[in-house]
Amino acid sequence: MNLFNQALLRLKPALEHISVSDEFLEVIRTPERVFQFAIRIKSDDGRVRVFDAYRVVHSTLLGPGKGGIRFHPNVDENETKSLAFWMTIKCAVAGLPYGGAKGGVKVNSKSLSPQELERLSREYVRGSWQLLGEDSDIPAPDMYTNSKIMGWMVDEYCKIKGSFERGVFTGKPLSMGGSLGREDATGRGGFYVLQTIQKFLGLPKTGARIAIQGFGNVGASFAKIAANDGHKIVAISDSSTAIYSEEGFDIDAVIAYKAKFGTLRGVTFKDGEFHETPHSTILHEDLLTMDLDFLVPAAMEDSINNKIAENVKAKVIVELANGPVTPEADQILAEKKIVVIPDVLANSGGVTVSYLEWVQNKTGYYWTEKEVFEKLREKMVYATEVIWHFSKDHNCSLRTAAYSTALTRLYRAYEEQK
Ligand code: NAD
Repeated sequence: MNLFNQALLRLKPALEHISVSDEFLEVIRTPERVFQFAIRIKSDDGRVRVFDAYRVVHSTLLGPGKGGIRFHPNVDENETKSLAFWMTIKCAVAGLPYGGAKGGVKVNSKSLSPQELERLSREYVRGSWQLLGEDSDIPAPDMYTNSKIMGWMVDEYCKIKGSFERGVFTGKPLSMGGSLGREDATGRGGFYVLQTIQKFLGLPKTGARIAIQGFGNVGASFAKIAANDGHKIVAISDSSTAIYSEEGFDIDAVIAYKAKFGTLRGVTFKDGEFHETPHSTILHEDLLTMDLDFLVPAAMEDSINNKIAENVKAKVIVELANGPVTPEADQILAEKKIVVIPDVLANSGGVTVSYLEWVQNKTGYYWTEKEVFEKLREKMVYATEVIWHFSKDHNCSLRTAAYSTALTRLYRAYEEQK
């Protein structure tokens, strides 16, 4: 089954708890706009390269489309539609005045030079700017895109438009209208959600054993915040390897290592010499199935399938990645009484601070980092409490509670706009 149809399967359990019309469901099952275009750039060696690019707006029932841009070889129409659908649900869960959107380019960005990456980013905007806007469709970073890339994109957009409309992109550099606290917002927001769930479950506040799959923006910032708060990060992976430390990693040292060598892999050849890491390596699958309190997938979709789910031993899974647990795996985890904090709640901190950035851009008034964190915490705790109580009142999973809550909010807007 393709990823978009798989994503839509999540609607079914929610419909057992709420009542919506068939015509509304038809609207939700159909993205409002799917735009595919080609990007041409000149490589450093003078050759022309062509890439497939996408921008999908799934729904604008609650506000302008909102969602990141991903640079990855797996990007295609179905993946982008799925990610846009999840953004619709996520923004509704987080109580933000946004719809759902997503974009991407099918590219291995690691194979591009910084100059080629800049050309690709600027060309993405040249190919899609007519669809983008502060009040129509607002991109942000996602996998293999970052604040620097958002800076190039917003610069290109403002040049084309001949006006200063920086709120059209979020996750920008601070000097270009970015918000304090945006860089680690997804990891931080996920941590606030986890703390709230820990309290409801009666779990100890500190000392948990945690494994993190994916050590990029989201995984690394979550790891740092959790370690600073007294938890032990015993396993970490990136696309190259998985590493283990029984006593828990010094996260700043791992971040520095990854920044220096660009990989967690044990032996790296760089600058004419080999560098060795003291970390012992484990299999990727072992990280997912080891004895843990919290397992944090923060990389790709579908990383926890039914085969892996059978062997997961963690008490709680915090879905910082989008769609890391397949629907079949979800059922197995539920039978094993493993609590899954769904992506549409767990990773909504990023879009929440994007919203705060957009508000600051629109008003021209900027908050301190402390103020941003306070607003983020307040929104994440409130969203988590609503979902938790729904799940208890309806005896359903947190994912079903999140989808039911989101669909109820979307349905209300749909009925009122009819
Ligand atoms: P990133 O590009 O900064 O990092 C991705 C990390 O995952 C890298 O360390 C990469 O090596 C690793 N990785 C890739 N494949 C892997 C594999 N098979 N096994 C282990 N590690 C692997 O991306 P990011 O921004 O941190 O996003 C990570 C996830 O979080 C994605 O699913 C993204 O959609 C989701 N997300 C991101 C944000 C955000 O604000 N950046 C917000 C919400 C959700």
